[in-house]
Amino acid sequence: MTPINIVALTTTAVYLMLGGIIYIHSRRNISENFFALMSLSLTTWGIATFLIVSPSLSGTFFQIGAYAHYIAGNLVFLCLFWFALYFPERNIKSLAIPILITLVDGAFFIAIIATDFFFSSFAIFSPLEKQISFHTGNYILYTLYILFLFVTAEVILLKKYKTRVDANKTPILYMFLGTTIASTPALFSNLILPGLGYFSLFSIGPIFGIVFIVTIAYAIFKHNLLNVKIIATEFFVSLIILILIIEVLSASSISEFLLKTVTLAAVSLLGYLIIRSVLKEVEIRQQIEQLAGELKTANKELGRISQAKSDFISMASHQLKTPLSIIKGYISMTLEGSFGNLSKKITDQLQKVYISNERLIALVDDLLNLSRVEEGRMKYDFSEEHIADIVQQIVDEVQMPAQRKKLRLIWERPAEKLYARVDLNKMRNVIFNLVDNAIKYTDVGAVTITVLQHDQSLHIAVSDTGRGISSQQIKKLFTKFTRVLEGSGRLTTSGFGLGLYVARLIVEEHKGRIWAESAGLGKGSTFVLELPIVEHTKK
Ligand code: ADP
Repeated sequence: MTPINIVALTTTAVYLMLGGIIYIHSRRNISENFFALMSLSLTTWGIATFLIVSPSLSGTFFQIGAYAHYIAGNLVFLCLFWFALYFPERNIKSLAIPILITLVDGAFFIAIIATDFFFSSFAIFSPLEKQISFHTGNYILYTLYILFLFVTAEVILLKKYKTRVDANKTPILYMFLGTTIASTPALFSNLILPGLGYFSLFSIGPIFGIVFIVTIAYAIFKHNLLNVKIIATEFFVSLIILILIIEVLSASSISEFLLKTVTLAAVSLLGYLIIRSVLKEVEIRQQIEQLAGELKTANKELGRISQAKSDFISMASHQLKTPLSIIKGYISMTLEGSFGNLSKKITDQLQKVYISNERLIALVDDLLNLSRVEEGRMKYDFSEEHIADIVQQIVDEVQMPAQRKKLRLIWERPAEKLYARVDLNKMRNVIFNLVDNAIKYTDVGAVTITVLQHDQSLHIAVSDTGRGISSQQIKKLFTKFTRVLEGSGRLTTSGFGLGLYVARLIVEEHKGRIWAESAGLGKGSTFVLELPIVEHTKK
């Protein structure tokens, strides 16, 4: 075998392997089916070229090769034409013209095979000197027809490339460039030059076919690089195995044959393992990609549901707030005697209605604050405030409820004046919430409020001797809707578990921190609010 023959045979094997592997991994749509046919035609064309140029083959093989070469060559371009029509999808409505072209092709096919329309004679002068003669006029007709197929396919691709704007644009360009670069020299070496009597470049034609097939493969899998990885691995493993098979077949002694066979077996096994691991890796990556996609969708859906819930809460609480305020107004006026004198019995009952209504208003306020904070609608109006003054007001306000529960209220007012930049109303609510909770969740003992300087910050600490908080619950306290259950599993006091959550968000807007400490259930708790201290500049 001459080196050129080896090249012709190897490239043929490459067509077959690459075409087969790509086809196995493709989605098998119409364009990819034409691709499969194209690589099969290329394989036949490659083998035919080998039969023609091989010195060791007899006259019959030479003739079969000549027929197969021109028929398969024609099929390659017919498939390219159809592939171009369908890649990435068909852009013409009527298939009348393509079918007509295919019928003309069929006529050429029959004429070449069944009549002496094409070949005039075959002559073998010596193993290296063979000659195929054609009927010149018909050969020119055939050549023009092939060139017509080729140019039409390229024009279709170029038009598709120019009119498209999506992601499939680039693969079309690759297809156009690859097929032009590969086909032009092959058309010269195996069609135009032989027509002029030059066969010397005949056997290099198949080499260009590789460019052809690789470009089309790239165009098909451009958007699926994972598949490209599998294909490349399978292709190189197959290529090595093919080379080793040729080695085994060309062994000159039994021992060489055995040694090469063992090598072939070992390499095949290793190749199999490599392919399997690449397949597995790709499969896992595809699963991860799919999961990530699903997670994204689920996340979107969650966001939508959360938004719907926030909208509902916001709307419902706005609707509730107005009638509650009206009720409050009327009860106040009734209690003040605006509608006449009331008996003590009615006043007592009305007081209870008033307190319950206040509780409802506080709950609705919690919900309104929640939606304001979450939607970023909370507006802050910062100013430098004397913190002990704010706490003082709160201590005054909670004297009554503390006394009602017989709790001692200890207020350790700091000697020095400590200032912080706060939104007065919001910070008052936050501190009030802490003190109110301490009273609410303490049955005996005391509630102590201290304000201290701690480096560049000030700490407002509210301690109680109440029911305490377990270490598991303490982590969740500042999250939404967290309410700690009583030992019996019942909630005894009113509230949505929103106060601390909203307080944390407000404190964070003040660049501060808030946290809770407790030695455990029944051991009381301390809530600490930390805010940056500011130098007082107010006059
Ligand atoms: P709520 O409206 O339920 O009081 P908060 O967010 O203010 O909502 O408090 C959340 C939960 O934290 C309360 O339900 C309570 O179980 C617990 N908690 C708050 N303050 C104290 C405290 N001083 N002692 C014990 N538990 C507390």
